[in-house]
Amino acid sequence: MERLVYCLPLRMRFRGITVREGMLVRGPAGWAEWSPFAEYTRPEIDAWWRAAWEAANLGFPAPVRDSVPVNATVPAVGPERAREVAAASGCRTAKVKVAERGQSFADDMARVEAVRDALGSAGRVRIDANGAWSVDEAFAHLRELSRLGLEYAEQPCASVAELAELRLRLAHAGVDVPIAADESIRRSGDPERVVAAQAADIAVLKVQPLGGVRRCLELAERLGLPVVVSSALESSVGLRAGLALAAALPELPYACGLNTAALLERDVVTRPLLATDGEIKLRELELADPATWLATAESAAAWERRASGLVGSSPG
Ligand SMILES: [Mg+2]
Repeated sequence: MERLVYCLPLRMRFRGITVREGMLVRGPAGWAEWSPFAEYTRPEIDAWWRAAWEAANLGFPAPVRDSVPVNATVPAVGPERAREVAAASGCRTAKVKVAERGQSFADDMARVEAVRDALGSAGRVRIDANGAWSVDEAFAHLRELSRLGLEYAEQPCASVAELAELRLRLAHAGVDVPIAADESIRRSGDPERVVAAQAADIAVLKVQPLGGVRRCLELAERLGLPVVVSSALESSVGLRAGLALAAALPELPYACGLNTAALLERDVVTRPLLATDGEIKLRELELADPATWLATAESAAAWERRASGLVGSSPG
């Protein structure tokens, strides 16, 4: 398979990085993306490869909708920038990153307040703590944040047991904030435990870490929870796979976290997959001139080393 490595600067720091890199691979069905974050190693990155292999070789299942509602993603920035990001997105839903290392809960409150202000009372605001809070912290913080109207809280605590305990405590206190599981679905090795433990109301699915669109569709059916499809901060080539999943799910009650091309300064395609009026339409992509996005030879070699052992294998 033909392979090219991209390097795209971010508009603002996200997930602790300022540049996104990944590999594009071309197969009979077209270009696909393989872009596990730097800290991921085997065997975890095998699932990411399986997703790329599927997209390059099999393409995507038939869609049941031709556009997908998406949310704005607001990084852990100050309130003014947060307001701008939410307002400029044109989305009616925003996901706000909270619990960033080195920041306080007052920073989170100010950011969520600014986003609520930008979207108005009819807008939907969700938060993502990436598992950073203890049960006590999550309970106290969500009680505060719920005054601003939260659509849901994504991975407020790290473990499935903590999420389950938090859900109970919130229910007993009459705090109406649904819980979404993200890391507990894709990194625990046992996504069904989330359901068995009644740890979440919503499942966040990401195509690359979960091994492809078809695997995600099967998982969604097994879990039986409402699904939100989110990106792994991919280029538009990778986002296209997330859109394919969102478009193929029988039910799609929430906006998806697939508008993350807005966080990129540049993209690998001529027309990036960006929301218009809060939706992204399904369409074919055309690669932009690689001179505008190719990584250095050194970086490409590092990605080739990372992919060795995976390239050539064809997961069934
Ligand atoms: Mg998340």
